Order: sequence, then structure tokens, then C-alpha cells
Amino acid sequence: MSNYLFVPAPTHSLAVRGMDQRFAVNRIFCVGRNYHAHAVEMGRPVDKSTMRPFYFTKAASALVESGATVPYPCGTTNYHYEMELVVAIGAEGFRVKESDAARMVYGYAAGLDMTRRDLQLVARDQGRPWDLGKDFEKSAVCTEIVPQGALGVLQSGAINLSVNGVQKQSADLSQLIWNIPELLADLSQFYHLQPGDLIYTGTPEGVGAVVSGDVITGHIDQVGDVRLTIGDAE
Ligand code: MN
Repeated sequence: MSNYLFVPAPTHSLAVRGMDQRFAVNRIFCVGRNYHAHAVEMGRPVDKSTMRPFYFTKAASALVESGATVPYPCGTTNYHYEMELVVAIGAEGFRVKESDAARMVYGYAAGLDMTRRDLQLVARDQGRPWDLGKDFEKSAVCTEIVPQGALGVLQSGAINLSVNGVQKQSADLSQLIWNIPELLADLSQFYHLQPGDLIYTGTPEGVGAVVSGDVITGHIDQVGDVRLTIGDAE
């Protein structure tokens, strides 16, 4: 017998390629500025020798499965795509070593870190949290998860994105400033990683705005293809 005042929020989950069971999503971590050319286009270059990665989070309730149509979000006039490799965590890990990465990774997905860029930049420039710009409803788009299997810990592979068939982003996973083992080692200094956590690993250069009616398609070699259609404003 439950004793809740109202029906609890549902468990958010993603399909897993080749399996009937779904991947129940726990937390969504996102890495900021993890490709040099994108950091530069945002006016915040990264010097890996003196800096560490930084993170923001999205609620699991922000998750949207690839293929969806989402309304143009409220509160923005500068709604951006960010194409990203998503790492799905499959094991508990705290203060893990880079050599533990293969054990920690359940699999991979192709994701979109949808962003209200105008709100993010106001927050950034005023030293405020990024939540309004980043953690909003239907802002974390994700494909099914591909189990790690023979892929191992991904080190390279094309990552690209098009809007209405016109390519806007094109890079390679080898250009990540902090690679997957480095991210897992760093993030687990601050959190006890758990099965069900997702890590959006950052976007390459070429981010930009979309409007109602646009169709976003993204691809990551060996991982998958993500698709999102932008509907009318709410
Ligand atoms: Mn991002």
C-alpha cells in the first residue's frame, strides 16, 4: 500500500538496443566546454593544463526520446541544439581510476543538449546558475542505448548534426578535451556514480538556433542517429 499524497512521478527510461529491458535513468550530468573549438565559439577557451572539467545537471524528467516532436520552449528566443555523445553508466563508482572506465560504462547513446542560449548566457555573465538555460522540460534528447559490447571505451568516431538536412556540426570524438576515462575519474571525485546515470559529454563547435518546423538529425559512428522535430510554441 502506498502512502503518497499524489501519484509519484514516473521512472524515466530509455530503450536498449537488442533488449526488452529498459535503462532506467537516474541522474543526467552534462559536461561544459569539452571541445576546444566550441569553447572558443562561446568565448571561453579551455586550457587543460590549468583547468578541470565542469558540469551541470538536468532532471531525469527533462528526458525526451529521439524521434519526438517538442514544442518550441517558453522563455526563450534563442533555442539551440548541441549534439553530444551520451555515456550510460552501468556500475557504482566513487573516486574511480581512469582504468575503471570500461567497467563503469554500460553503453552509449546519441543525445541533444537542447539549450535556451539567451537564458544560459544571461546566467553565465551574471554568475548565476544555468538551470533556466539548460535544465528545462524536454531538453535532454536521447536515442536508445547501445551496450558497450565490442565497442569498448570509445576514443574516436565521427559526430555530426544537421538541421533540415544542412550540416551544422561535424567533429570527431577524439577531439574531446576530457575523454571518457578522464571524465569518469573526475566526476566520481564529486559524486557516487550509479547505474542509470547519464553523462552528456559536451558538444563540438557549430551550435546554433532552431525555430518551429525545423528537423534536427544527428549521428555518431557506431552509436546511432538522433532526431528531433521542433513544434509550435506552447
Ligand atoms: Mn552541452
